[in-house]
Amino acid sequence: MDGTSHFVIGLAAGAFAGFQASHDPVAISVCTAIGGISGLAPDLDTNGLASNRITVSKKVAQAIMQLIGISVFLLITYRFLTDGLSTSLLVYGAIGLVLLIVSRLITQRRILTLTGILVMLLGFVLHQSIGILLAGSYIIIASFLPHRSYTHSLLGAAFYGFILVQFHNQWPMEGMVAAGLAGYASHLVADMKILPMNRRGVKWFAPIWKREF
Ligand SMILES: [Zn+2]
Repeated sequence: MDGTSHFVIGLAAGAFAGFQASHDPVAISVCTAIGGISGLAPDLDTNGLASNRITVSKKVAQAIMQLIGISVFLLITYRFLTDGLSTSLLVYGAIGLVLLIVSRLITQRRILTLTGILVMLLGFVLHQSIGILLAGSYIIIASFLPHRSYTHSLLGAAFYGFILVQFHNQWPMEGMVAAGLAGYASHLVADMKILPMNRRGVKWFAPIWKREF
């Protein structure tokens, strides 16, 4: 199922959970949004709507790295011509070279890994927010997992629920944990093999029981 469908189903699941938890229109709207985002989260293990929304495109990332790499080389050439060779120039040269090489080799998934690392750094900056730190770790883990493995399982859902609880502890909002879990679960159900459009199913009980449902 594509990202847009998952997003729409997640929105509906989040809205439903919001209505159960609260009569406040703001809380219900936030729950709806959380449901939609959570409906996309499991597919962070693949190149698609979810990953592309939170990461810069590969081309942009490559262009930025090449631009920095080339600027570094121009700068050290200038310094070399004016001040001669020094150890720091060699170090900067090595950094520029590494950036240029990485820019040629980087994949969209490693850009997702980098995004997860940036989210974790944000968590450190924001007074060690456990929720943001764990969300970053979720993104990093998902960027290394094969598609439809642990993010598409009860284990993944439980980890996601734990992250939601941490967010709720820091920024309490009625119904947000239920809305997020409803959105996440809606994704797993929509990916199940019983639905005719899915060729592959969901390994609900991975890693204990690897049967696809
Ligand atoms: Zn999926």
